[in-house]
Amino acid sequence: MSEQALREAIVRWGRSLFERGLTAGSSGNLSARTENGFIATPTNSCLGFLDADRLSALDGEGRHVDGDLPTKELPLHFAFYRNRPTAGAVVHLHSTHATALSCLADVDPTDAIPPITPYVVMRVGKVPVVPYTRPGSPEVAPLIDAVAPNHAAVLLQNHGPVVSGPSLEGAVFAMEELEETARLVLLTRGMKVRLLDASQIADLERNFKLK
Ligand code: ZN
Repeated sequence: MSEQALREAIVRWGRSLFERGLTAGSSGNLSARTENGFIATPTNSCLGFLDADRLSALDGEGRHVDGDLPTKELPLHFAFYRNRPTAGAVVHLHSTHATALSCLADVDPTDAIPPITPYVVMRVGKVPVVPYTRPGSPEVAPLIDAVAPNHAAVLLQNHGPVVSGPSLEGAVFAMEELEETARLVLLTRGMKVRLLDASQIADLERNFKLK
């Protein structure tokens, strides 16, 4: 995909996520890997009204080289790019249900999203919770470094989800699956829920080459 096409895809997906209420105001940010570096959404921008020509261009080391100043949450994105060479894009939102899960005191910090459907296993996998840090703080980087080699997505405690994927579309789809599953988890909370068992998960991993 050319850089221009990627810029236009960021604008299109940003608008779609915003219009579906998946992130509000100026929250949330998107980034994608290019041939020479990265493109990211600007600081304080609203995902619903991005301008392809003003997106932030960064070099291979993450230094700002063109366009508006990038989101201050870049440390989230680079922790994934650093640890996952196949990551082509990173999506961070404050989507309601995944963020609600990130606030619950009794969520398993190693596995916040129980395997209630095959799709969450296939598209997202196990999602750990990263301890709270101030938004934009570089202190989040080592915390994500610790889990990103083995996990494509995390929940930032009391903040929201971050998802990486091989492409922008792949990262957005995984984010949508994570948000919808978080909604199901909250809807069924307190009910007797049948989870996929270990052999059903192993069958998915084998058939869809997840490992
Ligand atoms: Zn955030």
